[in-house]
Amino acid sequence: MDKMKKDFSPTLLDFGPVQIYLARHFGFCYGVENAIEISFATIEENPGKRIFLLSEMIHNPQVNADLQSRGVRFLQDTYGRELIPFEELTPEDIVIIPAFGTTLEMEKKLIKAGLRIKEYNTTCPFVEKVWNRSQQIAKKDYTVIIHGKPKHEETRATFSHAAQDTASVIISDMREAELLADYIKGNRPPDRFFKEFKNQYSDGFDPIRDLRRIGLVNQTTMLASDTQAIADFLKQTMIDIFKLEENTVGEYFADTRDTLCYATNDNQTAVIELLQTGADLAIVVGGYNSSNTSHLVELCEKKLPTYFINGQEKIISAKDILHYDLQDRTEVLSTGYLPEHRPVKILLTSGASCPDAMVESIIRKLSAYFPDAVSMEEMKSRFS
Ligand code: SF4
Repeated sequence: MDKMKKDFSPTLLDFGPVQIYLARHFGFCYGVENAIEISFATIEENPGKRIFLLSEMIHNPQVNADLQSRGVRFLQDTYGRELIPFEELTPEDIVIIPAFGTTLEMEKKLIKAGLRIKEYNTTCPFVEKVWNRSQQIAKKDYTVIIHGKPKHEETRATFSHAAQDTASVIISDMREAELLADYIKGNRPPDRFFKEFKNQYSDGFDPIRDLRRIGLVNQTTMLASDTQAIADFLKQTMIDIFKLEENTVGEYFADTRDTLCYATNDNQTAVIELLQTGADLAIVVGGYNSSNTSHLVELCEKKLPTYFINGQEKIISAKDILHYDLQDRTEVLSTGYLPEHRPVKILLTSGASCPDAMVESIIRKLSAYFPDAVSMEEMKSRFS
């Protein structure tokens, strides 16, 4: 009903003793839905053929397990390590390229193996938009700075596309933006650059020559506030060094807006609004290696106890929950996550690779822990 997406206020599911505030925008994005649809259609239309996924289709364990249960096999893990030797591929096989896209080197490898890569390419158009943006910058002789996670499939793909046209370097956060600024200012010995940005710069990169004219693009799923802060910081760095005015800054810093996708923006804005609601805890659902989900967790963690889970089974009971610790990168068991007082107020959201059915099953499970809660059927009727 809110076609212009002006309303980011959460939906209250008032079960009585437990109140669940659901983010206005959460879960599956266009790119993920599109990739899943193409993958399942490919399986149906090609009985008897060997079907491979280049890596995880999306960062969701259930979706990937579902595809595997239908006979699909992964060629690489999420870090690009080979799981099945490429030499085993034949031109009769099908290889699906995931929503994150892939590197130009990988495309060449698949074409060389005789595979048809266009037909089974599920690269999200919002990722392609980033590639186009970096190409535009490259054509104007700017070096492309990519703000993203260096090992993430999407950032590796964006880097490969950018690096074919111009000098390129990946920065993962503000700390690395500040390091880069030191090289731009000439405050660090240039040869240290190669150690500090190992595996993050293009062939032949010269920190003296290639950091005088720069443009910034982002992995589509970064935290909007970080992205803005890094863009402002790098722009200001160029203004200070080259003594620029607003009308001359474009000569040294390409005038680009961020390349976050709509789903990242909508889901993060909805969480910021969700956090205005006083609550006892937050539950964020999504794959543990999902970039966009981890940023929703970071936003929630700043305000209240937050439990990052990748499935309803991680809610073990009304007392125990198994959840992912982003800092330690491990699952931990917490006891007593639901407070004793009533009503308990819970904020709930999910990342772009999490099916809505998962969110529903979590609502069902949580409400069932409260004997006096209204039924799911009653709750549904309130919204119909
Ligand atoms: S999170 Fe954004 S860029 Fe990534 S698949 Fe979804 S819509 Fe595309």
